[in-house]
Amino acid sequence: MELKITCIPGDGIGPEIVGEARKVLDAVAAKYGHVIHYTDILMGGASIDACGVPLTEEAIATAKSADAVLMGSIGGDTSTSPWYKLPPNLRPEAGLLAIRKALNLFANLRPAVLYDELTGACPLKEEIAAAGFDMMIMRELTGGLYFGERRTTESDGVKTAVDTLVYNENEIRRIAVKGFEIARKRRGKVTSVDKANVLDSSRLWRQVVEEVAGDYPEVTLEHMLVDNCAMQLVKDPAQFDVILTENMFGDILSDEASMVTGSIGMLASASLNDTKFGLYEPSHGSAPDIAGKDIANPIATVLSAAMMLRYSFDLDTEADAIEQAVKQVLKEGYRTSDIMSEGCTPVGCRQMGDLLAERI
Ligand code: NAD
Repeated sequence: MELKITCIPGDGIGPEIVGEARKVLDAVAAKYGHVIHYTDILMGGASIDACGVPLTEEAIATAKSADAVLMGSIGGDTSTSPWYKLPPNLRPEAGLLAIRKALNLFANLRPAVLYDELTGACPLKEEIAAAGFDMMIMRELTGGLYFGERRTTESDGVKTAVDTLVYNENEIRRIAVKGFEIARKRRGKVTSVDKANVLDSSRLWRQVVEEVAGDYPEVTLEHMLVDNCAMQLVKDPAQFDVILTENMFGDILSDEASMVTGSIGMLASASLNDTKFGLYEPSHGSAPDIAGKDIANPIATVLSAAMMLRYSFDLDTEADAIEQAVKQVLKEGYRTSDIMSEGCTPVGCRQMGDLLAERI
């Protein structure tokens, strides 16, 4: 198969971790007989320095012409970098918002997996961590409260602020379809999270999700109220497979779920549109404090590349091979400094990439 991938190395540790992810992808291509065409584009601080803006039209066109985008991370030290003296629409993060919009990325996927070897980093009680967990938080990314009408008014000296939570049934249906498609590739369970006891938007959400569920009889659907879900994530995270939810609930729950894994350098993510196209990136930022030192953990980016193979190219065997390589390297005791524990072998970013590529 021929794979056209646009890479955004970005800023800080971005170029280092994308380099290691490419090393692993190249090992996959060699083993399974694929050809990968990479094209790099600039975004964030790197693009500001070279072109004066965080993302150019040319870069967007290049991204659109690929099958998928693999990104490192963008941004610098927000208190010292000159990028943050620019107006907000010219700062590094504006590039990320612009590319999400240009590519119509409405579905955000964040897996939260607790690896057996890293249970020590999990802040939950030992018996809960021992059960392990492997879930996918699926968050609607372009609607809801963050995009609804908002205003602040003042009357008789009293200020009133209004934000509006709006969803139409088409927006709900397209994310629900993605959620069921992804559950079908996993353990076949969707937990749809809402606040249907109070909100009209949640009642519509529930109704549309149930309609979509009718097309996926092999997937089990359950509904859960968001307040209960927040509790269940720390009480019994093993019960979840795919959590499907709207924008703000997903924003909060995905951070909660990822933090219970305890390892920021291990967290992958994907943002998808209604084709197979997606943008894949680690959940963490550009870590300017450790950039250029060869100590960053590349695993989140490597796992994002595995998601790319699975969801944009339907290469499940190849994605499994990457995920197995990660488990193997952890089992053999190799650790970057962020996930280091006693008795393990410390390795840098490049060596971690080499070890993973060798195990494909
Ligand atoms: P961060 O995630 O970059 O770093 C937080 C802490 O985690 C730091 O101590 C860092 O060294 C460590 N860390 C992060 N990734 C690591 C890895 N792979 N291996 C080892 N340690 C790692 O968050 P921050 O410091 O708040 O933000 C830094 C910059 O990144 C800011 O400019 C921010 O806007 C940007 N950012 C970008 C994205 C993105 O590109 N999607 C996301 C979040 C933050």
